[in-house]
Order: sequence, then C-alpha cells, then structure tokens
Amino acid sequence: NNIKGMRGQVSVFEPHFADSNREQLNLEEYLKRAIEEARFELWYQPVVNAVSGRIEQFEALMRLRDEQGELISPDRFIPLLEESGWIMLLEPWLLRSAISAASLLARRVPGGSCVAINICGQQLLDNGFIERLLRILDESACEPSWISLEVTERQFLEHPERVIQVLQALREMGIRVAVDDFGTGYSSLAYVKRLPVEHLKIDREFIRELPHSEPDKAIVNSVGRMSEGLGMHVIAEGVETQEQMEWLKAHKVFLYQGYLFARPAPLESWLSDEALGLVLRPLREERDDEIA
Ligand code: C2E
Ligand code: MG
Ligand code: MG
Ligand code: MG
Repeated sequence: NNIKGMRGQVSVFEPHFADSNREQLNLEEYLKRAIEEARFELWYQPVVNAVSGRIEQFEALMRLRDEQGELISPDRFIPLLEESGWIMLLEPWLLRSAISAASLLARRVPGGSCVAINICGQQLLDNGFIERLLRILDESACEPSWISLEVTERQFLEHPERVIQVLQALREMGIRVAVDDFGTGYSSLAYVKRLPVEHLKIDREFIRELPHSEPDKAIVNSVGRMSEGLGMHVIAEGVETQEQMEWLKAHKVFLYQGYLFARPAPLESWLSDEALGLVLRPLREERDDEIA
C-alpha cells in the first residue's frame, strides 16, 4: 500500500516498468515506438450473469509489454495515451480489433455476448466518432448491440450536455453504454438520472472489502437500489472471492467481473468451450451448495 501510494505521486513521464526491470527508459518514447510498431494487444475479460448463468460480456483491455516482455500496467500508459491524444492514433486498430472480436464472440458464446470497449472523452466527443464506429460495425458484420461503450464520470463533468447527446445517439442506434468506475468520479445525482446508460460498473474499490466493510456494504446496496429505480443494471468489478459474490447476490447485484471467474486473456483463449465453461464454474459451485 505504501509503495503504491509513493508510485502514485511520481510523474507518468518517468519510466515504471515491472519491478524486475529497472531499465531507465522513457515511457513516452517507448509508447511512441510501440504505436509505430503496432505492438499493443487487446485482451478480454468476461462479465458473468448469475441469473442467466451465462457469460454476458467481455471487456476489451489494452496490453503492452516492456522490452523484457513483462506487461506494463495500463494505469501507467493509458493516462499518458489520453493526455497526449495518441489514443486517437490507436483508435482505428482498437475499434477494429474489439469489434471483430465482438462479432466472433457473439456467435461463439452460447446465448450471445457483447464486447465492452473503454472510450475516453476525446474519442466520444470527436465529431467523426459515431460515423467511424458505424462503418467498422458494418465492415465486421457486427450488430450494434454486440458492443458496449464504457465511459467514465469524468467525461460527464467536463461536457455534460454534449456527452448526454452522444450517448443518446449511440443508444438509439442500439449500441450499449456503461458508466465505468462508478462512484470514484464526481457525477451528481441530478446528472446520473439523465444518463441514457444500461450499466453502472461499480468500482473495485467498493467491492474489495466486502462483506467486511460496513461503509462499502452501504454504498453497494444503495447503488444497487438506485440503479434499479433508474432502469440500469450494476456490474461489480473486481470480484475475487466466493464470499464477495455471495454477498452481492444476496443484495441483488447479479453481474460480476473479476479474477474469481477469469483474468483478462487474449481472444484466442476464449474460443474453446472448455475455457468458457470454466468461467462459469464459481456460479455453479454455489448452486450445488444450495442443492446439497
Ligand atoms: P477499467 O476499465 O475499470 O477495467 C477494469 C480493470 O480491473 C482492468 O485493469 C482489469 O484487469 C481489472 N480487474 C478485473 N477484475 C479484477 C480483479 O478481480 N482484481 C483486480 N485486482 N483487478 C481486476 P487493467 O486491465 O489494468 O486496466 C486498467 C484501466 O485502464 C481500465 O480500468 C481502463 O480505465 C483503462 N484501459 C484499459 N484498456 C483501455 C482501452 O482500450 N482504452 C482506454 N481508454 N482505457 C483503457
Ligand atoms: Mg472499463
Ligand atoms: Mg471499470
Ligand atoms: Mg475500475
């Protein structure tokens, strides 16, 4: 925790690779080269639905390796990509990869599925964004409902009216929309009530200490009730234990993403029935207990 706190204070322009690699590379330079050499990867992590007992989504998560082949944390390089605007250079690759994966997985996963794509403010507010998205959906034979766009609260704060407009347009086209890291930003309830979104992803920070933290239980409970009233569904991020899942289920949160089910992995990992079945095992284990 201390080490984490100290790292958080260091500028993102300084190099921070895996602990095993102390090489003093400049992250900015490293990212520039990685963009030119198209070395980013997109991995996928399932979101399961305890009611249907199915995999409902996969979140697309960007990955990049350092020169030793170790993964660099996205918390290090994503902010830099967003602040520099370089995320726009990666967008064509990102959307094509995620959407072709969505097209494949929706047909492959029993009952269908969608791919959730993290979108930053610059992308969402760019005039050509919706057009680019529609063109790629078309080229990939992907239904709009097979993708979901994850946006964070920060974007609402900066351009509220414009963001609502864009999200509304996306919803009308059948594209799903989710608020990511819910509870960590600054959105007011007056604003949340107007958001045309299908899912609220409650941040891992509120899940981590369940079911032992009274404040977290109170928060998750009230977010759950609020979203019910707003016609939204809650996805709990960072579910790592059976105990957390059971508490969530008992409090009417039925969508889970986390290491209890699966870690993010390359698309190829999700193309076997066996791998898909393993993801659902924690849901069945609980059911077996209930029957026994
Ligand atoms: P996020 O969108 O909130 O993604 C969820 C993060 O939680 C991922 O971290 C995922 O690996 C992690 N996670 C999921 N389950 C668990 C768990 O049970 N335990 C723990 N400890 N962690 C879990 P990741 O992949 O490191 O990504 C971090 C953030 O980077 C993402 O947070 C997202 O904000 C951003 N990001 C990742 N890919 C993209 C992208 O393609 N575009 C943009 N704009 N941002 C991205
Ligand atoms: Mg996300
Ligand atoms: Mg999230
Ligand atoms: Mg998060």
